[in-house]
Amino acid sequence: MEKIKVLEKILSANDRIAENLRRELKEKRILLVNIMGSPGCGKTSVIERTIKEMKDLKFGVIEGDIETTMDSERLSSLGIPVSQINTGPFGGDCHLESAWVSGAFEKLNSEGLNIVFIENIGNLVCPAEFDTGAHVNVVVLSTPEGEDKPLKYPLMFRTSHVMLINKIDLAVYLDVRVEKMKENARKINPGLVVFEISAKTGEGFSAWEEFLRDRWKNL
Ligand code: MG
Ligand code: ZN
Repeated sequence: MEKIKVLEKILSANDRIAENLRRELKEKRILLVNIMGSPGCGKTSVIERTIKEMKDLKFGVIEGDIETTMDSERLSSLGIPVSQINTGPFGGDCHLESAWVSGAFEKLNSEGLNIVFIENIGNLVCPAEFDTGAHVNVVVLSTPEGEDKPLKYPLMFRTSHVMLINKIDLAVYLDVRVEKMKENARKINPGLVVFEISAKTGEGFSAWEEFLRDRWKNL
């Protein structure tokens, strides 16, 4: 019982900080976009390609990783501000909490930015349990992961506003049925916005980018 009470306290504190961050960024006209998904689904590649293509907007990234700064270094090379959270010192946590995101945002040189991506820790479970303060939650699901994942990890698909089906160029080599993948995801969340993309070839990116631009304009 005690354990449940403590967890409830942590979650409500997390929600409060998340709500404040969301409001603060809205006032600053900065759209905060939380990118979630399994290790290897292509989170960093999606962020990289989006930033490279949307030259009319200014981006920053809050990069979450248990260990290493490899993804941060890769994204910093685009000449954008990146703020790193390593959860290793927090016990190797496999998700990001709003207080850490808020702290990382303060360290980010955010003057004049339009969109800030959060690259969450790679997993389909607990990142969905913690509100980061983002305006838009995105789950990246790549075709090799299979069509059953929305049914196996429903909370992730329920808390996401957008599903990016990445590595769509590989679908022809796999047994995966992309239509079934969408159907399963919409069973969990009928309002989910879905884009089929390939961060490698650029397929489908214009629709995703239009969606982002629209959300930023209407923030
Ligand atoms: Mg990454
Ligand atoms: Zn976790």
